Amino acid sequence: MNIASNFTSKLPDVGTTIFTTMSKMAQEYNAINLSQGFPDFNPPSLLMELAAKYMQKGHNQYAPMAGVMKLRERLAEKNEFLYGAKINPETEITITAGASQAIAAAVTAFVHIGDEVIIVEPAFDVYQPLIEVNGGKVVPYRMEAPHFKIDWQAFEQLITPKTRMIVLNTPHNPTGAILEAQDWQALSKIVNNTNILIISDEVYEHIMFDGKEHQSLLRFPELWHRSFVVFSFGKTFHCTGWKMGYVAAPEYLMKELRKNHQFSIFCVNHFIQEAIAEFLADRSYYEQLPHFFQVKKDLFGQILTNTRFTPIPTYGSYFQLADYSNISDESDIDFAIRMTKEHKVAVIPVSVFYSNDENEKRNHMNTKLIRFCFGKTEQILQQASEKLCKI
Ligand code: GLN
Repeated sequence: MNIASNFTSKLPDVGTTIFTTMSKMAQEYNAINLSQGFPDFNPPSLLMELAAKYMQKGHNQYAPMAGVMKLRERLAEKNEFLYGAKINPETEITITAGASQAIAAAVTAFVHIGDEVIIVEPAFDVYQPLIEVNGGKVVPYRMEAPHFKIDWQAFEQLITPKTRMIVLNTPHNPTGAILEAQDWQALSKIVNNTNILIISDEVYEHIMFDGKEHQSLLRFPELWHRSFVVFSFGKTFHCTGWKMGYVAAPEYLMKELRKNHQFSIFCVNHFIQEAIAEFLADRSYYEQLPHFFQVKKDLFGQILTNTRFTPIPTYGSYFQLADYSNISDESDIDFAIRMTKEHKVAVIPVSVFYSNDENEKRNHMNTKLIRFCFGKTEQILQQASEKLCKI
């Protein structure tokens, strides 16, 4: 019996993620890596010291399943301070291995075979496979360049009796678009009197530009009772490799999510939870983050004005889309590969953020957009500048 040719893949269309592919290519061709979204600088040194301190102090065994209580209390306080949310740290917060694991746990706990899940495209690449591996059907709502707004009337047309869940993301990866209060209000009207659940992926909550305030779903009590709100310490503290995040959800939803969490991972890194709990006592760190990233966004925006790329406005996240139709007719994938190999700047092609429906995908192949990550040191951005000017 040849096992290799006698099993059916649960995800036949899934290959290696574009982030792994492009980062590897950047390394291979010695290109500046503005592709995968991660900072090329360290977390605050105090936070690293605290992590070492709590490791030395012996927090090296399992943490409580849902997370260290002191950390959950701090997070409840933070979300009340920022968004006016009343969250019970005991029953409504779970610390996870990054936002992706929180999303995986929520989808796995609630999506049954045949359920429909609406995602907003271009969409971060974890949503679709997680839905499909659980037997769900992805129903994409497609935002259009250059504004990437949701037309809620059109969105409503996608809802059917089978709609189980909606996944939203603000600030949005890859476009840098954000949801405003009126978006949440419109959604609220649409889902009223339905059993639809919502995942709000808010991992870039502190990377907001030009004085805009992050509109967390947590500000909207009328949506909270049906929602999972997902956050990332990796984005907030520049430590994507620590794989730490958390999810807030009302108790009846969290109970089901934890059934999945406890048997897929049980708990996450103990000493880092202790360290973050202590670090969070001081609000000034996250309060200065928008300014910290604004400087980078402005610098990168300035850099692009000296190139033939046309930037698409970004309001949040550390991503900047740019149109390259003044430069080339190539598909975005070919162009991104050539940029890496010949021009030594690695970027992400935007068509990969559209779902695998081949017909639909082809329509978006004509979109001449690439994504830059500007969450990098000034020195690296300046080096990239020299290369981008020559393209
Ligand atoms: N969120 C990051 C990005 O969009 C990286 C994700 C990953 O590498 N899986 O680039």
